[in-house]
Order: sequence, then C-alpha cells, then structure tokens
Amino acid sequence: MNPDSSDVLILGGGVAGCVLAARLSEDPGRTVRLVEAGPDHGPDPAGWPAPLLNARALPREELWERAVPTHRFRARVIGGSSCVNGCWNTWGSEADHREWVRAGGERWSAAAMEPYRDAAARAMGLRAVPDRELSPWSRASTEAARALGHTEADMGRPGAPGYGFPLLNAHDGRRSNAALAYLGAAVRARPNLTVLPHTVADRLLVRRGRIEGAVVVTDGVPRVLRADRYVLAAGAYGSPALLLRSGVGPAGELRALGIDPALDLPGVGANLADQPGVFVPLSPTPGLDAALAAKDRAGELYGSRVLLRTAGPYAPEDGWNLHLLPVAGPPLFGTLPPGRYEAGVSAFLMKPFSRGSVRLVSADPLAPPAIDPGFLTDPEGRDLETLRSGLADILRLARTPALAALATPTGDTAPHLLGDDALRARTGTYWHPVGTCAMGPADDPAAVVDGTGRVHGLTGLTVADASVLPTPPAANTQFPVLATAELLAAALATGAGA
Ligand SMILES: Cc1cc2nc3c(=O)[nH]c(=O)nc-3n(C[C@H](O)[C@H](O)[C@H](O)COP(=O)(O)OP(=O)(O)OC[C@H]3O[C@@H](n4cnc5c(N)ncnc54)[C@H](O)[C@@H]3O)c2cc1C
Repeated sequence: MNPDSSDVLILGGGVAGCVLAARLSEDPGRTVRLVEAGPDHGPDPAGWPAPLLNARALPREELWERAVPTHRFRARVIGGSSCVNGCWNTWGSEADHREWVRAGGERWSAAAMEPYRDAAARAMGLRAVPDRELSPWSRASTEAARALGHTEADMGRPGAPGYGFPLLNAHDGRRSNAALAYLGAAVRARPNLTVLPHTVADRLLVRRGRIEGAVVVTDGVPRVLRADRYVLAAGAYGSPALLLRSGVGPAGELRALGIDPALDLPGVGANLADQPGVFVPLSPTPGLDAALAAKDRAGELYGSRVLLRTAGPYAPEDGWNLHLLPVAGPPLFGTLPPGRYEAGVSAFLMKPFSRGSVRLVSADPLAPPAIDPGFLTDPEGRDLETLRSGLADILRLARTPALAALATPTGDTAPHLLGDDALRARTGTYWHPVGTCAMGPADDPAAVVDGTGRVHGLTGLTVADASVLPTPPAANTQFPVLATAELLAAALATGAGA
C-alpha cells in the first residue's frame, strides 16, 4: 500500500471505526487505512492493560481528558469507548426508527436495520446475563417490577416497555471491545488494511467542495494522507470537532476562531443529545451487605444487571422514555469500607428534548472542545417533568416488599420533589452522546449528512459514528452505533454512500 494514500481513510478507531475498517477491508481490492489517536493494544487480549479488560468497573485509563466533568469522559484508544464502558447492549423502540426514517430514509427502519443489528450482535459476541451474575438486589428488582405490573421485555430488539436484562459484551468479568471483536488477527493480517495508532487527525483539506487530503499528526510530525473516500468515525465529540477544524460548520463561529470557512454547515456540533440521569441512594440492610459480600468473594458481583423501561410523560405511544437502573455494589465513584456497598436506583431520561453543543475553543487538535450537554434545558421543562416522574417511579419500586426488605430510604426520600436547580445539581450522565453531525434531508439547514452518512455539500466525505444519529435511541448507544456503522459500511461498500 502506498504509505500516504488508500481507497478509504477512516479517521477515528473507536466502536464505529473498528466496524468500518473490518467491513470495508473484506474486499481485498479495496485499501483501507484506520487512524486512531490513542494506542493499539493488538488482537490478543494478553497484550491489553488489565484495567481495560475489567468489566466490573468503568476504567479511567486511556481517556482524552481525565480532569473534566464525568459527562465529558471519552476514550482515546483503538476500540474507543467500548474499552471503558459498561458493556451493556440494549435496543430502542419503533419510535426511534420512525425518527431516523424521517431523517435518513427507509434503510433506518427496524426491519431494514435488523441484519445490521444481528451482524453487530454476532461480531461482538453479545450474550445474555448468566443467572449467577444476578445479585440479590437484581433479583429483588425484577420482583419489584413485576409487583408493580411490569412484564419482561426483550432488551436486544425493538420492543415494549418492561423489565429485562441487557446483552453483554463481557464474559466472566472480562470486557471484550470493538477492537478485539472486529480487528482480530485474521482481519489485521489483510494486506489491504493498515492501522495507524498514536496518530491524531488534525483537519481535512477541503477545496471547491472536495476533500483533497487529511492532515494527521504522529509524534508531533504532521503529514497529509490521501484517499478516494474519507470517513469520520471520531465519535460524537471528535467528528464535529474535526469538521470544524476543517472549516466545515457555522461560518460565523469559524471565522471568530480564525478558521477559514470552507462550507457553511450550521448543524455541525449543534444538536448534542445525551441522556441525563439521577441516582437515588438507599441504605443497604446488613443482610444485603452480607449477601453482596458473599457474591463479591465468589467473583460474581456486578453492580447492575437489570433494567426497567417505563413510559413517563411525553413518551412515544408505543415506546418508553425512561430507564430505571437498580444498582448495588462497590460505588462507581469513591470508596466504602470493606464489606459495605452502595445500593440504589438511577433514573435516566432516554428521549430528552434538550440539546447541547460541541464547539471549538481553538484550532489545535489537542485542545479539548467545549462540550455543553445542555441537560434539562428545554424551555418547556418537559425533561425535568419526565425525570421527576422517573424519580417518583423509583420510590414506588423502593417501597415494594421485595426491595424494602433489602434497603431502606435514606434522608433523601423524595428527590422528585427537589427544586429545579437542586435536581440539576444532582444530574449525571449515561454517557450516550449522539447527534452532533445529524442525519437529515439536504433541505434541512440543521442536517449535516444524508441517510448514507455523506456530508451535504461535499464530495468524498462520510460521517459514520454516533454523531449521525439525529435523535438518541431509547437505549444504551453502543449497540445502535455498532449497527449504524455496519449499515453505513454496507452503503459505502455497495456504492450507495460513494
Ligand atoms: C464511561 C462510558 C460508559 C458507557 N457505557 C455504555 C454502556 O454500558 N452501554 C452502551 O451501549 N454504551 C455505553 N457508552 C457509550 C458507547 O461507548 C458509545 O456510544 C460508543 O463508543 C460510540 O462509538 P463511536 O465510534 O461513535 O465513538 P468512540 O467509541 O468514542 O470512538 C471514537 C474514537 O475516535 C478517536 N478519535 C477522536 N478524535 C480523533 C482524532 N482527532 N484523531 C484520531 N482519532 C480520534 C478516539 O480516540 C476514539 O477511539 C459509554 C460511554 C462511556 C464514555
């Protein structure tokens, strides 16, 4: 392969980037180069740092920035955020597909996406939660959900509200990730695929509506890589930042940063949608602590393995807009004395109306972008109202005999009654940002890409990661992003996205 040119150049080697590199290099006649800012730990799990393989915790290694609010965590390593995430895989509702079909056409319907969803599940080795991984808290939570009239739902396909179990890309506490799953030894042995780790994509060279190259920096040394097709897969924060540095975005904002606008595309970096949530702590009884400690000693303690999907106000008629997540185990943040555990339930807002933004503060590719998640800012207050209804649902769950036997309310028993500011102060994230290079028709001024990921107004450029989803799924995003990348790789391979 010519060291500086390929048929396809993929910028960003995270969840989507690994799918794209694997699928597009299946054709031996197509040369593919994958650029990743972070390290590449290779196809053998033995070569990976142990913390990244520990599925019992959210690793804090290999992040772009550590000293930032938690909502801004983003991984910088081949495999992307699949190397640091919770290994939960769920799917959303038909309502998500209706929104995506309106934006990108029939290929985004539930039926049309099914083969891509299935391909992603197979490649990632997704599996059901083994019974031994259910803690007494998880079991009691399913009983509590049943007591409140909820029924079991399949979490891995478009479905209905109800309780259920996520699909996992972890086995016996060992995390797999998109790089191990998609870029195994056989794929890496393909002579038409090159992986370039420790290489930061600075910007695209845009001239008269075409991409003429990508400036990348390895060990401080810039060079230009060229390709017939450029594919951005730098994630919901990285892809808009790359476009903005390339002069593609809101022209006024770019000029203010000293960047010459190449294409005025106001949607770039706008429309950031993430799923906010609030944790309601409960006090474990000594009995629950002891039972959790026994699971812990057996190496079978997982903080959360059960999920309840409920429809709060403004939920789509056949869907849900809340995830209630019972949790019991070592605290996610901070520590407790040995033998003591944290228990509680989180409520996450899955279909927020609020939108935030990703903006540049400088043209330096190593300068973190300004990320405003915009949590709970919709002027009509619908998100606050829905979150409050989720918090009230948590109290109903906590009062069921099944959960009340294991944990008692803390002083903080009525978070749904907190004032707006107090509630905002307690709001965290599910880490599921999407929407910053949103798919939509060419006549929609907020749209950045079409239904095949092609950037409106430019030739030769596709975006193919979480940033293209115009609305968040009522789901954890890894599985939908894997399927999105499968879909867009197929569109590229067949020429639909050429
Ligand atoms: C802490 C955490 C927990 C999560 N838990 C879950 C979960 O349990 N279940 C779930 O479904 N989802 C979860 N997610 C979300 C899920 O991981 C993401 O939806 C998914 O990783 C998005 O894939 P992506 O390819 O769009 O971006 P990413 O996977 O983030 O990949 C982007 C890649 O691009 C690289 N990159 C960025 N900029 C550049 C540049 N300029 N040059 C070169 N490379 C660049 C990055 O280093 C990164 O490797 C979690 C996320 C986080 C952060």
